Amino acid sequence: MTETRPQDDQENDSTTASERLMKISRDIAVLSEGVNIIAVSKTFSSESIIPILSAGHRIFGENRVQEAAEKWPDLKKSYPDTELHLIGPLQSNKAAQAVALFDMIHSLDRIKLARRLAEEMKRQGRRLKILVQVNTGEEDQKSGISPEEAAEFVSTCRVELGLNIVGLMCLPPQQDVVGPHFALLQKLSQQCDAPLLSIGMSGDYEEAIKFGATHIRLGTAIFGPRASIPAH
Ligand SMILES: *Cc1c(COP(=O)(O)O)cnc(C)c1O
Repeated sequence: MTETRPQDDQENDSTTASERLMKISRDIAVLSEGVNIIAVSKTFSSESIIPILSAGHRIFGENRVQEAAEKWPDLKKSYPDTELHLIGPLQSNKAAQAVALFDMIHSLDRIKLARRLAEEMKRQGRRLKILVQVNTGEEDQKSGISPEEAAEFVSTCRVELGLNIVGLMCLPPQQDVVGPHFALLQKLSQQCDAPLLSIGMSGDYEEAIKFGATHIRLGTAIFGPRASIPAH
C-alpha cells in the first residue's frame, strides 16, 4: 500500500514538449492527412529540442539565421535526416548562411533576395525548396509580395532564376479573422501551381487545416511560452 508511482491525474500539469507534440499530431490526423508539423524551436535551447528529436520528430523551424547557426549544425550531426525550415525574414547578406543551413525557406518576399538565393544555391550546389511569403493583409509594415503580384513573382523566380518555388506562406494581420487570408492564399497557390501552404500557428492551426494547410508552424503549443520575442 506504499506505492510511490506518480498519480495519473498529475500528468496534465507536467506534460513534456514531445507529449504535447504527439497529442497534436494525433488530433490533426483526424482532421486531415498529410499535414506537416513544423516544431518552431526559436528561443529554445538544444537541451529543449533534443527530447523531441529523440522521440522521432524531424521537422523544425527557426526564424533567425544567427540563432539557427548556433544550435543546428551540432544537432544535425546527431540527427542528419532533420529538415530545417527558415520561417522568419531573411536579409540578403545572410543568404549564403541560410542556403548552407536550411532545407526550406518560407519567407521569400522580394526579387533582390530571390537573386541572391539563386546565386548562392548555384555556388553551393544546393537546391532548397522555397515558399513565397504573401502579404495577404496588404499591411505596410509587413513583408511579403502583394496578392496581385504573387503569380508574376512566382513565375519570374522560376523562369528567370530557376528557383524551386513549391508553395506560399502568409502571416495574417493580428487583429483579423484568419479564414479569409487562408482562403486567399489557397486560391493563389492554385493559380501559381505552388501546392504547399504554410499557414497556421499555435492559435489557429485547426482553422488553417480547413483551408488546406500542408505545413503548420507550432511554437508555444509544443514548447510552451517563450521567454521573450526576439528582435530581428
Ligand atoms: C514564432 C513563429 C511561429 C510560431 O508561433 P506560435 O504562436 O508560438 O505557434 C510561426 N510562424 C512564424 C513566422 C513565427 O515567427
